[in-house]
This record gives sequence, C-alpha cells and structure tokens, in this order.
Amino acid sequence: MTQYVVAIDQGTTSSRAIVFDHSGSIVSSGQLEHEQIFPQAGWVEHDAKEIWDNTREVIGQALSKANITRHNVEAIGITNQRETTVVWDKNTGEPVYNAIVWQDTRTQKIVDRLAADGGVERFKQTVGLPLNTYFAGTKIAWILENVEGAREKAEAGDLLFGTTDSWVLWNLTGGVDGGIHVTDVTNASRTLFMDLKTLSWDDEILEVFGVPRSMLPEIKSSSEVYGTASPNSLLREVPIAGILGDQQAATFGQAAFDKGEAKNTYGTGNFLIFNTGEDIVHSENGLLTTLGYKLGDNKPHYALEGSIAVTGSLVQWLRDNIGLFKDSPEVEKLAETVADNGGAYFVPAFSGLFAPHWRPDARGALVGLTRFVNKGHIARAALESTAFQTREVIDAVNADSGVPLTELKVDGGMIANNLLMQFQADMLGVPVIRPVVAETTALGAAYAAGLAVGFWKDLDELRANWQEDSRWEPQMDAEEQARQLRLWSKAVTRTFDWVD
Ligand code: ADP
Repeated sequence: MTQYVVAIDQGTTSSRAIVFDHSGSIVSSGQLEHEQIFPQAGWVEHDAKEIWDNTREVIGQALSKANITRHNVEAIGITNQRETTVVWDKNTGEPVYNAIVWQDTRTQKIVDRLAADGGVERFKQTVGLPLNTYFAGTKIAWILENVEGAREKAEAGDLLFGTTDSWVLWNLTGGVDGGIHVTDVTNASRTLFMDLKTLSWDDEILEVFGVPRSMLPEIKSSSEVYGTASPNSLLREVPIAGILGDQQAATFGQAAFDKGEAKNTYGTGNFLIFNTGEDIVHSENGLLTTLGYKLGDNKPHYALEGSIAVTGSLVQWLRDNIGLFKDSPEVEKLAETVADNGGAYFVPAFSGLFAPHWRPDARGALVGLTRFVNKGHIARAALESTAFQTREVIDAVNADSGVPLTELKVDGGMIANNLLMQFQADMLGVPVIRPVVAETTALGAAYAAGLAVGFWKDLDELRANWQEDSRWEPQMDAEEQARQLRLWSKAVTRTFDWVD
C-alpha cells in the first residue's frame, strides 16, 4: 500500500489540504477560501469556526481526489498564517471573538502604551521582535481588554489562545473532548512572549501584557508526534507530527536547512527568511529575529526575517477595491500593455510599513503621476512595488550577514507572474529561482511531519527532492537600476508621518 503525508495549510486567504508522496510531489489537494472581514479601516478578521469547518472539508476533498483513506496516511503536518490570533472558551469550543488577522492594526494604542516605558525595542533582546501591531501578543491583549467578560474568563482559566495552528490542532484532536493545546517554536516566536534562548514563555513580559499564562499553548518542537486525530475525523488515529508557521514551513520546503540559505515567499505579503543556523542574530537593519525550525530534541535553528505586509494583497486591492481587473493573474497582461512604469511609483503602506522601515505612521501613496499615466502603468507600478520592497529587505539581510546573497529561491502565488520575476531579478542583480514544487509551504509542513514518523529518513533525503524549475537572470543595466531604486526610495519617504 502506497503511503502519503497530508499537509494542512491554513493560510490567510484559504485553507488547503495537500497529499504528498515520498518524492515530495503533490498527489491531490483540496482548497476553500474564507471570508475576509473588514469591520473598519485597519481592522482585518476571520471567522475561526469557518476556518475549522473549511479545514475539515478540504481534508475530505484531498483524500477523495487521491482516492485514499486514513490508512494510507502516515502523518499530518500543519502550517498556518502566523500571528493571527484566536481566543476561545475551552468548555464550549466557541471563539470569544473573530480571529484578529496579522495585518490588523487596531492594537496601535496598546503598542504605544507599552512602548511608553522603554520604547518599541524594549523586549527585542529577549523575543527578537519590536513591539508592533503585527504580533499576536498585542492582539491577545486587545481581546482581553475589549471583549466583555473575556478577562474574567481568562483569569478563571477558561480561555485558550492559539494561532491557527493551535486552533486547528485542538479541534482536530477532539476539541472540548480532550483537544491538545500545543504550538511549535516557530509560531510561539511570533507572539512577543517567547524567550528565544529558553524557548519558553517569559513571565515578566506576560505580566506587562496582562496575559494569564494558563491561556497559552505548550511550546513544542516543529517535528514530533503531538497527538492523533480524533475519532470523528476522517484521519482518525493518524499522528499529527509537524507544525511550522507558514514562512518557516516554506523555508523548510525549499530545503534551506543550513546557515546562509534563504527563500522569499510572494503571497498576500512577502517574507524573506534567512537561516542563521544555531546563532541568534540581532539585526541592525530592521529585520526580525525568529525561530527557523526545531526537529524534536535537536538544537533549534534561528533565522532573520524581512516581512513585507502588502505585496499580493495590493493586486487583490486593485482587483476588489478599484475593479481594475477580474482575476489576479490579469494584472500581468495589463502591466504588459506599457513598456515601463511611466514614472509612477506605488508604495502600498496599507498597514504602515514593515521591514526594514517599521513605520506604523505610514500610509499608501501613488506618486510620480502625470497626465501620461494610465491603468497599465498603475498595474506595473503595483507589481514593481513588490520587487522594490524585496530589494530593501535583501539589502538589510546582506548588511546584517556581511555575505551578499548570490541567488534567491522564490515561492508563493505571485511567482506565476513572469513580468514581476524578471523585474525582481533586475532589481536584485542576482538570479531568481523557482523550484518544481512551488507549494513549498505545505511541503515544509509535510516534511516536518514525515521526518518525525520516519517517512523520510533525514534532511539529505529531503534536499535531494528539491529541483529547479526555472530561473530569471538580471538584464537591466546598472544605471537604469540605480535610477529606479533612487525614485523608489524617494517615493517611500512620501508615505511617512501620515497618521495623525
Ligand atoms: P497566501 O498564502 O498568503 O494566501 P498565495 O501564496 O496563495 O497567498 O498568493 C496569493 C496572492 O498572490 C494573492 O494576493 C494574489 O493577488 C496574488 N497573485 C496570484 N496570482 C498572481 C499573478 N499572476 N500576478 C500577481 N499576483 C498574483
């Protein structure tokens, strides 16, 4: 009987289940989008119940398309949108509030209050992160401060917090009937609460945030058997054996296991992860310090991360809010109707700017406009903004590491866009490389789970699975590249100091 591993990819826009075979190839998948809820400017929510219902359904889709049952599945891996915060009642299984999504900026006042004593970097040495609305800790604090009755229930030990990995795991392992409340080190490293050295929750920081420790999941490695799927699951008795936050999972799926290796994911936002091995490196250039992965009892691998809030979601915005086209891929055709950006630069600082600027006071700007500019130029400027922002992050990585990257491995929904990938190579001056299995996020979670149960032997076996599909070589001359970067930098400064 052929055996497989199932990865659950609980993403920002959709939940997927993907069946992988031993070569790391996709056998089948199921996918359902969930609603993006925007109650007011700057707020982004998901319905956690919808996410769990969809997760169950996509598992069924994937199994039936592959024509297999739980008996063919050796292990389940989970990967997830990071930082998105669910708080639920452990007695009823009901969330006390919608999931607050990573892009949500409602917690700026909480950030300002906490930063008043010691600045935004007050916990950075311990947790690797600046105080920012992005991270889960501020979102938990908001729920406890704003949802009626939440604080009392939390203090009575009735509420649980989880990023969506924990939410899915708890439900998959039985929910109110014995669900397991666990997260992995990579997700825990995005809360603002985990000490990077000890890999445990920091009581002093919890105290400052007013978050009871009883709400928090137990922190485990990224690859070990956490439990088995519950009797009412299609995958009952199958071990759940891997958890990695989506960006770390993509890094693992790209086989960037060693110090000095990196990948860049182009999804709703963009996330560059640079593996720093067993060293905790604190950035001097606006990058985050985070967990890369931890396999069972082995030592953890750390990473530097450049997070960009808005890349693919700018394409969505042009589609949904402006109506410039009907499907995301059409942005490329529209951009191809013009030879260049026509002087237009689009800085999508919709959630402020993340790495390397960390400017919560920034808001989006479309600059350089003249009567000449048409919708083709705007489509092009939107795509180019992803490449420019990536260049800024890579400059920061190169400055921190002292060893310039010589190529960039890429993945994510936007890499289907050739125009963008070529412009990216032009802006970086190094080749951009796409692997055969571009679903690296799900693959990484499958790898973590499969390693824990012996489906795959070791990292070398996984490395051998990685294959190049295509590459883009830089073509632009140096002078034009420098001009583009100069204008972009000027455009960025126009977005600052906008929130009053
Ligand atoms: P996530 O995992 O963050 O939900 P994906 O990796 O699935 O995201 O990528 C989806 C994003 O990619 C969406 O924001 C979408 O607008 C964008 N996208 C998809 N196809 C294209 C394309 N051909 N050109 C540009 N952007 C695209």
